[in-house]
Amino acid sequence: MPVQSFTPPRRLLLGPGPSMVHPRVLRALSTPLVGHMDPAFLGVMDDIQALLRAVFQTNNRFTIAVSGTGSAGMEASVVNIVEPGDAVIVGVNGVFGTRWATIVERCGGKAIRVEAPWGQIIEPEAIELALRRSGPVKAVAIVHAETSTGVWQPLEPIARLCRDHDTLFLVDAVTSLGGAPVEIDRWGIDVCYRGTQKCLSCPPGLSPFTLSDRALAAIRARRTPCQSWYLDMALIADYWADGTRAYHHTAPISMLYALREALRLVEEEGLPARFIRHQLNGEALIAGLTELGLLPLPSTGHRLPMLTCVTVPSHIPEAEIRTNLLSTYGIDIGGGLGPLKGKVWRIGLMGESSTEGSCLDPTQCARRPFFPRRLAFHSRGRPPGCFTGL
Ligand SMILES: *Cc1c(COP(=O)(O)O)cnc(C)c1O
Repeated sequence: MPVQSFTPPRRLLLGPGPSMVHPRVLRALSTPLVGHMDPAFLGVMDDIQALLRAVFQTNNRFTIAVSGTGSAGMEASVVNIVEPGDAVIVGVNGVFGTRWATIVERCGGKAIRVEAPWGQIIEPEAIELALRRSGPVKAVAIVHAETSTGVWQPLEPIARLCRDHDTLFLVDAVTSLGGAPVEIDRWGIDVCYRGTQKCLSCPPGLSPFTLSDRALAAIRARRTPCQSWYLDMALIADYWADGTRAYHHTAPISMLYALREALRLVEEEGLPARFIRHQLNGEALIAGLTELGLLPLPSTGHRLPMLTCVTVPSHIPEAEIRTNLLSTYGIDIGGGLGPLKGKVWRIGLMGESSTEGSCLDPTQCARRPFFPRRLAFHSRGRPPGCFTGL
């Protein structure tokens, strides 16, 4: 039997990424290729750089899309900045901070972990203490939107500390960028990366990446060559950013078409409108979940608008409900990772998935028999009313 062509089942993607993709982006993916050194394609790369600068709110000349998912951006942030022996302070309060510290150590750096319980922010005072107590520190690395816990980390106070201590500030904005403000220049962020499949609603495969002049100078002043040839931004600068367009690797052409279109959609909507949309839909979701008796893990004021992590009461069959949501209703949400496995749901309202129809506003429930009723439906034997099932 030959393998049949794949027809994906219909899904509403409400997990921690990927999010729904706009039809215009899907169309862009299927347009014919040109060579990656074709002047027409170099124009596409120029457009992407300009559009990315707008979303990153930066004038950084070095603003590109790394060929690889968000993790490639994370890896690039470390391999380029950290040399063997360098100390890096890493905020660890979830999966992604934990990974970052591991990558620092694999590069021969010293990771100074500033930890907070999962679900809480990293207090700027804790970073300040670490900066004072440690010797010279090359960089401070902080996750803006901790997708494993739903925590929204304040960045500005830590950015100021980095300036005061003359250390580089690395920010993971994989989930936040395009859904909440990330002001690279005004806040003073030196290295920042993100993913395409979260609030940009493009398929996974690229990691937009920006470097301040300070960060570029640090890279150019390295004593040792970057451990990674593929992610060496000094080489990639010649390909993407510096105008010489020297071949380094073949750009993922179709993905870049898709990113360009996704960024055009962001530009058409406008960043302020986009942030408000994510905020309102996130608040409606939390209101609805609270009605159901499901409380967000982070405290008020530190909850992400695009990713809500709620604690699942112990009598609720967490994984079973998620499986049923997917198989019966085609709704994809996320479970917990690491210590939160089996204990939380992670519901993403990112990019194209952040719509009124996807959220859970109790006042609208009767008109939108979407999430609460379905959730309630699955909590076995209890009345399938809107907010009574749990
Ligand atoms: C998703 C995510 C990543 C990793 O991105 P991939 O595209 O899965 O490689 C890194 N950091 C954060 C905060 C994320 O949410």
